[in-house]
Amino acid sequence: QLSERLLKVAYYVPKGAKLADIGSDHAYLPTFLAHRDPTFSAIAGEVNQGPFDSAKEQVMHSNLTKQIEVRKGDGLQVIEIEDQVTVITIAGMGGALIQSILENGKEKLETVETLILQPNIGAVFIRKWLSANGWKLTHESILEEDEKIYEILVASRGDEHGLYAEDVEKKWMLGPYLMKEKSAAFQKKWKQELQHWKSIVQSIEKAGHDSKNKERIHELKNKITLVEECL
Ligand code: SAM
Repeated sequence: QLSERLLKVAYYVPKGAKLADIGSDHAYLPTFLAHRDPTFSAIAGEVNQGPFDSAKEQVMHSNLTKQIEVRKGDGLQVIEIEDQVTVITIAGMGGALIQSILENGKEKLETVETLILQPNIGAVFIRKWLSANGWKLTHESILEEDEKIYEILVASRGDEHGLYAEDVEKKWMLGPYLMKEKSAAFQKKWKQELQHWKSIVQSIEKAGHDSKNKERIHELKNKITLVEECL
């Protein structure tokens, strides 16, 4: 059984997709999707030998070698234009790493229609990258599983039609859809962040007031205000 987190990622993958799942580890996500949809096919990409071997084994044992190909390589380098990939999933990593995978493989995105990204932290880096690179954020989800809170961002090509017209910093950080919805998981995540930031401010204030510290406090207090306005 797939985790709630990956089930939510799977939910956004359209029928008949040609998927590239980057950082696939055990290839659980493409395996699940292939069982569900005979018209689905996928490339499972992995940079590390251990997870690459696990993915190969999983696909072989599930008799899905016709639908899923496991490839070893860094980020989007495992994809060729001829693969005609329509959907990319990158899940279970930090937002900064996901952003750098997209940035380093930009030229591989020509045929891609949908990006489904699940950062464990740092979704802000992804939202900024999408905005700057002609991708429109279409859906966001947030969920709690095993005491951890995860965000899922879905984007397709196109204009954002004023999605970030106002409060851009706040929306990049919190998510334009999530901050409207204000779900329980959203509130929990940001209350935890607030507590964390406030305790950092306190300990820096105790440590002294050189200019670097002042700058850091100013930055944190800004973020605290932005988030408090939304809860
Ligand atoms: N996507 C799965 C999930 O969400 O459950 C696995 C997440 S696992 C925590 C992250 C995986 O990404 C690891 O197996 C790691 O080897 C792989 N990874 C990290 N950086 C990568 C990169 N640049 N290219 C491909 N895979 C990468």
